[in-house]
Amino acid sequence: MWKLPILPSLNALASLLYPAHCAACSEAINFPAYLCLSCAAKAPRIKPPFCATCSEPFDGHITEVFSCANCAHRVLHFEASVSAYRSRGVVRKIVHDFKYRQQIHLRFPVADWLAETLHDPRLDGRRFDLLVPVPLHPARKRERGFNQAALLAELLGRRAGLRVQEPLERLRYTTTQTAFDRAERMENLRDAFRLRKKADVRGLRVLLIDDVLTTGSTLSECARVLKAGGALSVHAATAARA
Ligand SMILES: [Zn+2]
Ligand SMILES: [Zn+2]
Repeated sequence: MWKLPILPSLNALASLLYPAHCAACSEAINFPAYLCLSCAAKAPRIKPPFCATCSEPFDGHITEVFSCANCAHRVLHFEASVSAYRSRGVVRKIVHDFKYRQQIHLRFPVADWLAETLHDPRLDGRRFDLLVPVPLHPARKRERGFNQAALLAELLGRRAGLRVQEPLERLRYTTTQTAFDRAERMENLRDAFRLRKKADVRGLRVLLIDDVLTTGSTLSECARVLKAGGALSVHAATAARA
């Protein structure tokens, strides 16, 4: 007697696509997600007031548009860098596991956080011709196996219907930025990026993509190179900021 194969339940199908445990607390989850509801709710969302240039949040009741002292005292080459979350707690852990522990499936929740930046008034309604991920040095990419910014740009591009290209290349295998003060960091980044030989960004409105903004120096340096190559404007979006 022939029996129809039993159709797998939706839950079983989902479990093929999603891990059955929260990526932050290991709690069992039985719905399609990477984080349990409680961990997802703990992601530290950046709320106003924040710096219009770098998204650094401040306490208090500032209602007008302002730039923080840090941004006011230096030249930044992007128009604005938008982050939706602070790189703390669950956000910091998930981004870290994605980047340094080869948990590549965690690009999905990180890309969700990144995608929230598109609703920010600084980006919403603006037309972008191109998403550009911050490049990794080829040696670092070999070491890690992937460029996290490129994976995120690809997911965001698919979601927002935007073209993704990698016109930038990283020339220097710079040491970890966090070990330097700001002056050393800028020095460390000098000539770290350039346009690829056949890249043409003339007249384009670019949205630069990275996982985390630490000081803004890397994004600023990438924006400088893109504008030197003729880009019309360069905004930046990151999933989180330090
Ligand atoms: Zn959890
Ligand atoms: Zn700022």
